[in-house]
Amino acid sequence: MRIDLHTHSFASDGTDAPAEVVRQAAAAGLDVVALTDHDTTRGWAEAAQAAPAVGIALVRGIEISCSAARGISVHLLGYLQDPEHAALVAETEAARDSRQERARRLVERVSRDFPLAWEDVLAQLGPDATVGRPHIADALVARGHVPDRAAAFESLLATRGPYYVPYRAPGAVAMVRAVRAAGGVPVLAHPFAAARGRVVPDRVIEEMAGAGLAGLEVDHRDHTDADRRRLRAMAASLRLLVTGSSDFHGAGKPNRLGENLTEPDVFEQIEAQGALPVVRG
Ligand code: AMP
Ligand code: FE
Ligand code: FE
Ligand code: ZN
Repeated sequence: MRIDLHTHSFASDGTDAPAEVVRQAAAAGLDVVALTDHDTTRGWAEAAQAAPAVGIALVRGIEISCSAARGISVHLLGYLQDPEHAALVAETEAARDSRQERARRLVERVSRDFPLAWEDVLAQLGPDATVGRPHIADALVARGHVPDRAAAFESLLATRGPYYVPYRAPGAVAMVRAVRAAGGVPVLAHPFAAARGRVVPDRVIEEMAGAGLAGLEVDHRDHTDADRRRLRAMAASLRLLVTGSSDFHGAGKPNRLGENLTEPDVFEQIEAQGALPVVRG
């Protein structure tokens, strides 16, 4: 069984429709794929309709923007939770609102030095999508200021760059509890992806584990071999599951579907812990 538990559609910062992500996942030889858009479940219905037709099992998920320890950005994957759970919806919608406000301010700052309008960003957004820096990057590409998303992140949109604006996100430990309360299975996404900015201290991972964290995403292209060894050791000592994924974003990133995988027994445990069924044909 080939299982990829982290992908994005244009409901957030992927470049393909949810149904297209699912079709490509099947074509890539995957048996199970999770759709985990940033702070939204708006892609679920379309993906769930498409999956049985192409013979792939779908895990309905989300990647929740969180923060920890003085402004460190933390991404929390949630699988198979009630999508209407009030606290969870309130937090993710608030994060979406803050992202919107922040994207406008970021565009405003960049536009002082490079021609760029909010409409340029809107032109890059999927229907009712969660806006992020990748969409601003796409607008900068369309304007000819940078060759691709990666170049934008290395220059104008860098976290430590001159135009960066943060957004407000809920605390990571509280969100682990919220995902569990909604019947979901919380997994810490790419914990040591240092290229994105500061990473969480071990003590935060321990606190998250105490709050009900189910697993750590270990096999991810943003982790070095040393990162993976250290994360596997942490997972063993904290009794957490180990997952792997592509973090596919369509044409927006080099990540290819299935480039990292999750073991079948881990997938079984996630399914057993989740409130919602896996969508099967
Ligand atoms: P934001 O959440 O708006 O701060 O933007 C971060 C998002 O940008 C993450 O979800 C990543 O998927 C994406 N991202 C980060 N670095 C890169 C990069 N070098 N190329 C393309 N996308 C990136
Ligand atoms: Fe992303
Ligand atoms: Fe992420
Ligand atoms: Zn992701």
